Amino acid sequence: MALVNEHFLKLPNNYLFADIAKKVNAFKVSHPKASVISLGIGDVTQPLCPAVIEAMHKAVDEMANKETFRGYGPEQGYQFLREAIVKNDFLPRGIHLDPSEIFVNDGAKSDTGNIQELVRWDNSIGVTDPIYPVYIDSNVMIGRAGVVEDGKWSNVVYMPCTAENNFTPQLPDKRVDIIYLCYPNNPTGTVITKEELRKWVNYAIKNDTLIFYDAAYEAYIQDPDIPHSIYEIKGARKVAIEFHSYSKTAGFTGIRCGYTVVPKELTAATLGGQRVDLNHLWYRRQCTKFNGTSYVSQCAAAAIYTPEGKQQVKATIDYYMDNAKLMYRTLTELGLEVYGGRNAPYLWVKTPDGMGSWKFFEQMLYEAHVVCTPGVGFGPAGEGYIRLTAFGEKEDCLEAMERLKKWLK
Ligand SMILES: *Cc1c(COP(=O)(O)O)cnc(C)c1O
Repeated sequence: MALVNEHFLKLPNNYLFADIAKKVNAFKVSHPKASVISLGIGDVTQPLCPAVIEAMHKAVDEMANKETFRGYGPEQGYQFLREAIVKNDFLPRGIHLDPSEIFVNDGAKSDTGNIQELVRWDNSIGVTDPIYPVYIDSNVMIGRAGVVEDGKWSNVVYMPCTAENNFTPQLPDKRVDIIYLCYPNNPTGTVITKEELRKWVNYAIKNDTLIFYDAAYEAYIQDPDIPHSIYEIKGARKVAIEFHSYSKTAGFTGIRCGYTVVPKELTAATLGGQRVDLNHLWYRRQCTKFNGTSYVSQCAAAAIYTPEGKQQVKATIDYYMDNAKLMYRTLTELGLEVYGGRNAPYLWVKTPDGMGSWKFFEQMLYEAHVVCTPGVGFGPAGEGYIRLTAFGEKEDCLEAMERLKKWLK
């Protein structure tokens, strides 16, 4: 008899965006003439930039030719891409990485979900709350999260991020083995200063904690003082793994490419107290379970680092950030409390009069025909907030803001 992994049965049944789609569909059925604008789901809308398209065409042509055809590539990614990453994403920030510390992936979701395989099942984990659901769910699947009690997992330490603490999580008062951080943050759109991030790195060094740092939105940072990488902090190489993605940076949600940084200095202990090199362990894991990102996708990613690519990618990010600015201004003028939106494509809005997230979601849908994401879907501390994304078309964004003005007046 094959027995299932029963930890999967503990996962919440409903996926947040499926729930939202169901409610939006119910509205559309009863209001067939209404045009609904979605500022809900976090997917990009603008096409790939010309430099990327050109590189992909060229790569496809190479695949069509016997002399230049490529089969399996290196599990860790092609050297040309890993060198471009080291040179463009880290060197200008004073971070010296070796290409052997870069692992090209098929998007950050896989690696943020898989990375927990490197540590024992009985490690404790800490997460900021609200949170990108992958971090917790991937731990639930192997039994590390415990069981749900009052909407929280019993073996997870939650670090609430709310307006009250200015979205700056407090260090846990007990030691935690693994901490997930995501900055700029999805869903709140808020960032962390170097000073605050230094506290986390120091905590990790002192407590022998491993930090999994998700930097998927670093390209959206506008403020020059905000760190783009945890390795800008001294000592971070000894304690942190960092995840990057071209999905939000360059519209690669359908192309699939990103990378994970596992520094050579990073170690974790065996029960017997021996230190183990995690770069080597992750390499071993990838060679067994991952056969690399497609050559075409990696050529596409490398094109982002060309002068034209950089300029074009920035233009698209500016387009989204203009949306964010417009939304921020309108919502603030309407008297709402708005967070994020300055260094990230997400706005985190407090519902008026302490209304529940789902209730506000429904009212906005039925009265303004605009879709948001209920904050509570990202964790208990998200109750009383909604998330809006700046990833839409400018015209939709403008129209949505006009509707909200009329609605909230
Ligand atoms: C979108 C997103 C990612 C990236 O996902 P991909 O698999 O690279 O498309 C990673 N982390 C967070 C928090 C995200 O929102």
